[in-house]
Amino acid sequence: MTAAVAMAALVSACASAPPQRQPNLDATLWIQTAAEYDAAARSVYIAAANDLAGLLADSAESAVLEQEGNYSALPPAVILDVDETVLDNSPYQARLLIGGESYDSQSWAAWVNEAAAAAVPGAVEFTQAAVRLGITVFYVTNRRASQEEATRRNLIEAGLPLPGDPDVVLTLDERPDWLSSKSSRRQFVASTHRVLMLVGDDLNDFVDVDGLSVEQRDGVEERFVSYWGERWRMLPNPTYGSWERALFDSDLGLTPSERTNRKAEHLEPGGEW
Ligand SMILES: [Mg+2]
Repeated sequence: MTAAVAMAALVSACASAPPQRQPNLDATLWIQTAAEYDAAARSVYIAAANDLAGLLADSAESAVLEQEGNYSALPPAVILDVDETVLDNSPYQARLLIGGESYDSQSWAAWVNEAAAAAVPGAVEFTQAAVRLGITVFYVTNRRASQEEATRRNLIEAGLPLPGDPDVVLTLDERPDWLSSKSSRRQFVASTHRVLMLVGDDLNDFVDVDGLSVEQRDGVEERFVSYWGERWRMLPNPTYGSWERALFDSDLGLTPSERTNRKAEHLEPGGEW
């Protein structure tokens, strides 16, 4: 598709698309074109890399709430989410916008199988710094077990470290108790490793918040204030996530306009306005 044809298709799609999808135009363009996004992601990863040695030296440190027992002598690890944490899937979002389509599991699976996502800025340098310090990098992702092979290909292609052993790509349903909550997989890693740091783009990459309201999510975020910027590092993702589902109470039965209205109720005009 030429640029002109793509542009015409996008303009047409946005004009006819349900309004709830149009905000993703700006969000997707921010990730794809804004130097500000690259700088934000890189800032997170550079600060995280700078703190690895200190976290490594303090054997009392653990980043996972599920870490139990005497873990101080366990080998060190970090846990990273995959999508929008180490792999940038904004081309998939761009395709949805151009095609006037919404997310669905089939088109997502096709994108995953292409293994064509680039690395999020700073992710390669951070993970390589971790490996140089003898820290094992685990990837805990809600991509499905059937997508692990393609995910591995993509991680390698994007320059991310991936040892053959142990299995560091922990996917959804790979084991019976590895559900969409990542808690059991954090616990699994913590049973053999001291986890120094978690990196993600969604609160669920750190602590379970699915089904919580916007206000409850804020409460969880504030409760763990001592973790942010140290053991927990958050990447920006304005395109999708549990933050967005919370705006309409994850009610997937709503029509597009109902969903938009529920979201708009959360706008905060402030003051006497
Ligand atoms: Mg993610």
